[in-house]
Amino acid sequence: MRAANRAALVAAVRRHGPITRSALSEWTGLSKGAVSSLVAELLRDGVLYEEDAAAGGRNRALHLNRALGVALGIELGTSECRGIATDVAMNPVRRSLQPVTSVTVEASIGLIAAMARQLLEGETRPCLGLAVALPALTDAEGQRVVFSEGLGWSDVPLAGRLSDILGVPVRVTNRPRAGAMGEHWYGAGVGVDDMVYVSVSDGIAAGAFIEGRPLIGATGYGGEFGHTTVLLDGPPCVCGNRGCLETVASLPAIRQAIRQRVRVGADTSLREPIAYRDIIAAVRDGDALALGEVRRASEYLGVGVANLINLFNPSLVIIGGYLAEAGEMVIHSIRKAAQRRAFPVSYRHVQIQRNALSLDSACVGACALVVNGYIAGLEPALCGSPWG
Ligand SMILES: [Zn+2]
Repeated sequence: MRAANRAALVAAVRRHGPITRSALSEWTGLSKGAVSSLVAELLRDGVLYEEDAAAGGRNRALHLNRALGVALGIELGTSECRGIATDVAMNPVRRSLQPVTSVTVEASIGLIAAMARQLLEGETRPCLGLAVALPALTDAEGQRVVFSEGLGWSDVPLAGRLSDILGVPVRVTNRPRAGAMGEHWYGAGVGVDDMVYVSVSDGIAAGAFIEGRPLIGATGYGGEFGHTTVLLDGPPCVCGNRGCLETVASLPAIRQAIRQRVRVGADTSLREPIAYRDIIAAVRDGDALALGEVRRASEYLGVGVANLINLFNPSLVIIGGYLAEAGEMVIHSIRKAAQRRAFPVSYRHVQIQRNALSLDSACVGACALVVNGYIAGLEPALCGSPWG
């Protein structure tokens, strides 16, 4: 509880600072005595500093100490690896994007370690840690990748391997959960207690916040939204099932559908090799084939989103990943399909909208995990976010 209160204070300073102790007490609901004692700790630890102004004692404004260090967040996908370094106020200070040419464990460790070093180049502040977000089931301690069908991994002690190489604390997390954290704490979902974030890129997955806390599941494996069945006898999926949402609405599925149509003579501006960003650019340019296939995928997503709305009764569904980059047409198609299928009483109270952090949602969430963990002095994913 003390750790959560520490992080809540820091969050309030980040959002409202410079701020006095009494204003902190108002924002956080903590007693003045509790604020005073926690602030003393945070000043001692160098997380906060106070103005040396003439105003005496308790009226001095508190600031977040950005010199404290930088956090690294890296998102590994099957086609791209994306990274951000932020300060403790979550301002991005450096970015990196690299293609993924091999998803073997050794190649991925090499790629992530090289990206981490690149993000720290020229940085004089200490590195507080690295969080890696992957399309994978990860253990509750954030140390091991338990299973990833997309990467073809099982039981990989990724955090320990990277920590040995880089000499900083490392944790691993599920990519959509990181995206949900990024959007909940810093993006479209700030202040929204019941929200679902859906990421649509090389796979489809969801991360949820229920009553202000991230949904983890009994063993940490919740959120495999892409593997809910939408077509009983649909195409085979990498998970061994058939007709999963991912087989009809992910970027690889859209690309596959475009290729099939081209083979039977459909016209398009797209040329091989087709990257995800090429499909999004073609939609924006009005390419009829790309538009049609993205719209069809969005309708399937809307069916899935209707299920999420009926299950969780969220007030916000955020769409992120590459598909969201195609813009309002995607969101509109999802809304229409979801409205047809969700309970009207639930649909009436839900907003479906695009993410605010573009392709950075998961990296920002990963950086927040590092900063929260450092400041709270414990692993924050299991205790929810005091950063709202
Ligand atoms: Zn599946």
